[in-house]
Amino acid sequence: MKKTYLLTPGPTPLPESVVSVFARPIIHHRTPQFQTLFESVKIGLKYLFQTKQDVLILAATGTGAMDAAVSNLFKKDDKVITINGGKFGERWTKISKAYGLNPIEIKLEVGDAVEPAQFEVTVRANPDAKAVLFQASETSTGVKMPTPEICKIAQQAGLLTVCDAITACGVFDLPMDALGLDVMITGSQKALMIPPGLAFIALSDKAWGRRESSNLPRFYFDLDKERKSLSKNQTAWTPAISLIQGLQETLRMIQEEGLANVFKRHELLAKATRNAVQALGLEMLAKKSPSTAVTAVKVPSTIKDGKAIPKTMRDKYGVTIAGGQDELEGKIFRLSHFGYCGKFDITTGISCLELVLKELGHPVEFGKGVGAVLRTFSEN
Ligand SMILES: *Cc1c(COP(=O)(O)O)cnc(C)c1O
Repeated sequence: MKKTYLLTPGPTPLPESVVSVFARPIIHHRTPQFQTLFESVKIGLKYLFQTKQDVLILAATGTGAMDAAVSNLFKKDDKVITINGGKFGERWTKISKAYGLNPIEIKLEVGDAVEPAQFEVTVRANPDAKAVLFQASETSTGVKMPTPEICKIAQQAGLLTVCDAITACGVFDLPMDALGLDVMITGSQKALMIPPGLAFIALSDKAWGRRESSNLPRFYFDLDKERKSLSKNQTAWTPAISLIQGLQETLRMIQEEGLANVFKRHELLAKATRNAVQALGLEMLAKKSPSTAVTAVKVPSTIKDGKAIPKTMRDKYGVTIAGGQDELEGKIFRLSHFGYCGKFDITTGISCLELVLKELGHPVEFGKGVGAVLRTFSEN
C-alpha cells in the first residue's frame, strides 16, 4: 500500500464530502430538483467571483471559457493585447489567432510579471486595440500578475479586460466588480475543488454590450444562449449534473469558511512553502511576484535530470507535484498550495522533497525545509 497525496495546481484534491456526492444516483436536469440546485450554485458563484453579474457554467475545462470569451466578444481582425508570461498567456495568443484576431503579444521573461509601465507603453502604441487578455496568476511559472494596475491602465484606454483567473479566483482576493474586470474565468479543478469538466465565465455590462457586435463563428459556446437558459435555472445543453452537485458542496464549504479566511489560508500556505524553499537553499522561478497558488522552484544544478524530482516523489513516495511544461520541462518543479489544502499537506510535500533531493545527490540537511514550514505556522 502506498498512500497518495496530490499537490498539483489542478486537479486539486477532492474533499471527502464532495467524493460522496458523486456516489449519488443521477437526477434529471429538467426537474424542480435541478432548478433548486442550480439556484443555489448561482448564488455561490456570485459570492466567489465577487460580482453582481451572472456566472455562466459551461461543460468544458477552463480553456473552453477562454475560447468562449474570444469567440463571443470580438470581430475578425480585431486587435487585442495579450500578456504572455508562460504557457497560459501564450494560449490567449493562440486562441486569438485561431479566430482571426490580431494579437499584439507582450512576451515576458520566464518568471516575470508584466511591469505596469511596460504594459502602458504597449497600450499607448496600440490605440486601436480592443482588449487586454491576461492571467491573474500564470500557473506555468508561478507568477502573480498586477491585475489592479492592468485594469486601471486598460480602463483609461477604453480596453476590455479579459482575465483568466483560473488559479486566482478563490485563491486570492480578486473582486471582479470592484476591479472593473470585464471578463473573469475560472475552472472546476482548481480552487473549486471538484474534478475537471466545468468552466465558469462572467461578463460585465460593457462586455455584454460587445457581445452584440461580435460576429465570429460559434455554436456550443454561445454565451447569450447560456445567459437566457441561466435565467430559467437551466443550461443551454445537458449540464454536467454530477459536477454541479459537487460544486454545490464546495461552494458551501467556501462560504462557510468565508472568502477572506480562504485567502488568508492560501497566503499562509504559500508563505510556508516559500520559506521552506529558501531554507533549503533553492531558488524560486518567480522572484518578484510569486503566485499565491503555486510555487515554481528551479532544479538545483547538482541534479542533472530535473524530471527525476517529481517522478521520484510520485513513483516512490506517492506525492504528486507538478514539473515544468514546454521549455521549462526538467528545469523547474511546482508545489501547489490552494484548494483543499492545509498545513500538513505542505509539511508532507516539503518533507518528501527533502528526502528526494538527498536521494538524487543534492546536499540536504534534513529538517531545514520542514523546520521553516513549522516555524511559519507557529509564528503566524
Ligand atoms: C489550468 C489552467 C487553465 C486551463 O486549463 P484546462 O486544462 O483547460 O482546464 C488555464 N489557465 C490557467 C492559468 C490555468 O492554471
